[in-house]
Amino acid sequence: MILKVEELESLRLKDLLQKDQTEAAKMMSVSQSTFHRILTEARRKVVDALVNGKAIRVYGGDYTLRNLCRDCRSEWGDFAERCPSCGSTNIFYRGRGRHGRGVDQNL
Ligand SMILES: [Zn+2]
Repeated sequence: MILKVEELESLRLKDLLQKDQTEAAKMMSVSQSTFHRILTEARRKVVDALVNGKAIRVYGGDYTLRNLCRDCRSEWGDFAERCPSCGSTNIFYRGRGRHGRGVDQNL
C-alpha cells in the first residue's frame, strides 16, 4: 500500500496537528475540496492497512517536502529528525504544494 506524500501531510495537518480544513488546505496550497479528497483517500488507506494488516509505504505524489537546517542552512527532501549535515534538531519545515507555491511553517 502506497500512501502519497500529500496524503500523509493531510493526515498530519488535520488529525495530528488538528488544523481546521480551511487552514490545512491553505498550508498545502490546495482548494478545500481537493484537501478533503486527499484526506478521505489517506484515511481510507490507513484504516485498510490497520484492519487488514498491510504495510504502508510513503512515496511519490505531487507534494514534496523540504527541510531547512537553521544552523548550517542545508536543505534536504526526506523527513528527518535531525539535520543530515550537522546533526542539529533546529529544523525548519517547508511544504510545497502542487502549484509550486511554498508554504512555510514551524514544526
Ligand atoms: Zn545542519
